[in-house]
Amino acid sequence: MWTPIAEEAERAAQVLHPNGREIPRPAHRRVLTVANQKGGVGKTTSTVNLAAALVKYGMRVLVIDLDPQGNASTALGVQHSSGTPSIYEALLGEIGLIDAVAKSTQSPDLLCVPATIDLAGAEIELVSMVAREARLKRTLTTAVLDQLDVDYILVDCPPSLGLLTVNALVAAAEVLIPIQCEYYALEGLGQLLSNIELVRAHLNTRLHVSTILLTMYDGRTKLADQVTNEVRKHFGDRVLRTVIPRSVKVSEAPGFGQTILAYDPGSRGAMSYLDAAREMAAHPLHQGLHR
Ligand code: ATP
Ligand code: MG
Repeated sequence: MWTPIAEEAERAAQVLHPNGREIPRPAHRRVLTVANQKGGVGKTTSTVNLAAALVKYGMRVLVIDLDPQGNASTALGVQHSSGTPSIYEALLGEIGLIDAVAKSTQSPDLLCVPATIDLAGAEIELVSMVAREARLKRTLTTAVLDQLDVDYILVDCPPSLGLLTVNALVAAAEVLIPIQCEYYALEGLGQLLSNIELVRAHLNTRLHVSTILLTMYDGRTKLADQVTNEVRKHFGDRVLRTVIPRSVKVSEAPGFGQTILAYDPGSRGAMSYLDAAREMAAHPLHQGLHR
């Protein structure tokens, strides 16, 4: 008999041995900025769990924590107390990016440049610097990325459209926007899109919104379906078919310095991030499109 426990065990087995589910390495290294100035929509959760999922499929992934809250660093089990070599010093040009790279506790192929609270001052300190919008891009030299040998770089943004987010948009070719399946989900999206358009027009012509991920979906509410339909109507096939369900396990994992894939590999949350990562990798819009 196919019991829920058997089903869960099967899911766990798939996560631990994703046979036949490996994804191809991208033709070109992909840099994705995970942005939405709305707070608490699942930017960090999606960044770390998609990164962990891509690693499960055999990729090497670098997460750049660009939020002074340092939540992505926490979730990856990476030290980020004040004074730790971090993205802050790299942006100011005091150290090279490579000197701030730490291995996550999850896997040697999951790397992280942590953010410390010092980054909170960067929005102001960067203002007077040369090429203030391109500080992050400057740290991501081909030589550094070749040395790190990463396939994907995911940048976790703070909940604002300030200079840190602009730096992330200048450094990437792709934007991934997580949208929470809740009331007011689309509020502020217009402003985000017009900022992306401004950056594209003036600072980074390669920039495009490649991926929309619906998060915290609660199938019991009509509202979740309304939001889902509206987002799909607007963004079409840029919206991943996989939707991330609302799940307590997903929210518990960072408390243990873990991604959902390490914390509860058999959970629906883990499976959904694995599915979303596979879709991201297969998405026709960016197959070999950008470096
Ligand atoms: P901020 O704007 O503050 O950086 P964020 O957009 O990065 O927030 P997260 O920190 O990822 O959002 O998520 C916000 C809260 O929702 C967190 O407490 C997180 O644990 C929780 N959360 C995220 N995804 C889920 C989910 N699928 N199910 C349940 N809780 C979730
Ligand atoms: Mg966050």
